[in-house]
Amino acid sequence: MAHLHQTQVQVIINGLDQSYGLVAKMITLSFSLSQAVTYASAIFARVHAPNVFLYNTMIKAYSKSSTPLAAVRCYRLFCVGLRPDHYTFPPLLEACKEASDLDVGLQIHSHIIRTGLESNVFTQTQLLRFLAECGSVAHARRVFDEMGCRDGVAWTTMIASYASECGDINEAFRLFQEMPFQRDGFCWNVIIAGFIRWDNIVAARKLFDEFPQKDVVSWTEMISAYAQKGHYREALHLFDQMRVLGCKPNHLTLVSLLSSCAHLGSIRVGMSIHQFIEKNGIFIDVYIGTTLIDMYSKCGDIENSLKIFNLMPRKDVYTWNTMIEGLASHGQGRHALDLFMRMEMEGLEPNGVTFVGVLTACSHVGLVKVGRAYFHLMINEYGITPRIEHYGCLVDLLGRAGLVDEAEEVVNRMPIQPNAVVWGALLAACKVGGNVELGERALKHLLELEPENGGNYTLLSNIYAAASRWDDVDRMRKMMRNPTVEKIRGFSCIEVGGLVYEFSQGDDTQSKCVYELLEEIAMRLKDMGHVPQTGEVLHDIDEEEKENALSWHSEKLAIAFGLIHTCPGSSLMIMKNLRMCRDCHSTTKLVSRIFSRKITVRDRVRFHHFTDGECSCYDFW
Ligand code: ZN
Ligand code: ZN
Repeated sequence: MAHLHQTQVQVIINGLDQSYGLVAKMITLSFSLSQAVTYASAIFARVHAPNVFLYNTMIKAYSKSSTPLAAVRCYRLFCVGLRPDHYTFPPLLEACKEASDLDVGLQIHSHIIRTGLESNVFTQTQLLRFLAECGSVAHARRVFDEMGCRDGVAWTTMIASYASECGDINEAFRLFQEMPFQRDGFCWNVIIAGFIRWDNIVAARKLFDEFPQKDVVSWTEMISAYAQKGHYREALHLFDQMRVLGCKPNHLTLVSLLSSCAHLGSIRVGMSIHQFIEKNGIFIDVYIGTTLIDMYSKCGDIENSLKIFNLMPRKDVYTWNTMIEGLASHGQGRHALDLFMRMEMEGLEPNGVTFVGVLTACSHVGLVKVGRAYFHLMINEYGITPRIEHYGCLVDLLGRAGLVDEAEEVVNRMPIQPNAVVWGALLAACKVGGNVELGERALKHLLELEPENGGNYTLLSNIYAAASRWDDVDRMRKMMRNPTVEKIRGFSCIEVGGLVYEFSQGDDTQSKCVYELLEEIAMRLKDMGHVPQTGEVLHDIDEEEKENALSWHSEKLAIAFGLIHTCPGSSLMIMKNLRMCRDCHSTTKLVSRIFSRKITVRDRVRFHHFTDGECSCYDFW
């Protein structure tokens, strides 16, 4: 810059400051050196009668600056007496795009027509891109149709525009098929991403399979789509193919894969992806690190989560939130709260999600006083307005501790409309406290909010059963038989030898030895003095149907399967979509002692770690 200043002095001394070529070079140079237009516009201002070329140079510099619309102001001066050429408009449109100003862009468009330059391919393509990127699909199409000769860029731009949210995916696909040029990878990825955006994953997959030169973008697009739509197995399956073909995943691919493993509870696959990351020297940034913590925690391995957490040099609030939530769901509430204090000490600002984790931690270990204090700390110290999930946590915390009246008061006084989660927590609280009237009131609200959820009827039915109101129990059962009421099918998964096996409640298709082992376990438990909780089960529909010898709950089937198909002494990890019933819980405790196995069950709300006849939840769940 200092040299440029010296040169400028020489230019002025030698009377060359009106030379168009020299001034244009200096404008371009000063902008590229300083990224600011102040000096460039000062040089420009010294020129008494700038020509078209000089104006174009200045407009281009403005369009790339931090004040792109200055290009339009410069253009207005230009129009007084000079005629723009086809170099004038592309940077002007670029400036409007940068400033996201569609109105000014449309004014420029009408100028293009007035100057008779609308037939210039370069200008037209630029106009098309501008309109497409501003989301004005109809305008873009008009320009596209008027174009005399369209190149591949114009076609791809138009296809991308139709494939966006404000477009029309069928039209995008029609153009994609009609395109008279060789479609490049970019164009393929645009249409695949378009179908995904328009929620047509089947069509996206079909095109993906037809696409001959898939690159990391296409693979990632498809894998992330499967992960986001809950097709986790498909995501992992696609990764196998990707690996076979030697395509290297990027950070985005890995995050999608790890979160798929977390959802499936598939720790072997998750570990193999972790190993892949380490073997290929992929840098574990905050994003991947946090996803790894989440994966290990959701797959039942909280120790590995902590290991990664402690090794991470940089952590953001999401990393801390994930670790706190993980510890809370594993019943390590106190550890979670310690972490929260460390987070505060390190000067990180907690957000609303952090407090969901903190309140859940308190709830799972029954720390009522502490939980209440944190709820107020959140509001008064951190200025976070409680959202519905915080109220849900608070009601749950109070309800589990048997403080039903206080829980109801929270519901009555909360400033937002309670949702099904809050009423559900209150209804569950009534089960603990045996409060029939309040349970009926809560169910009334739940029936309005989610009449199809069978779990709600079950809860109230249990409350009636506990109060020996059998007529009401029958009434609930009749209501549940209504075909619109959806009964959630209970199922459990276990991973053995890298494969995930699924068991549903009452599944009678397993091999005979599974049922024989279950019978044997039942006998041995009986010998040990274990009374099956049939008293409750008889009248209790719980979240699953009542159990008899032929209709085992899915986690029992999964545990028996695991005992048969794994080495003695190795630990078992079961994933279940509903809460464990009391009988399965006490059975699993004893099984862990008889067979000397560590058994982990991840149910709908939390983890249970069973060792030597005890569970980490201390029967509080
Ligand atoms: Zn059960
Ligand atoms: Zn437990």
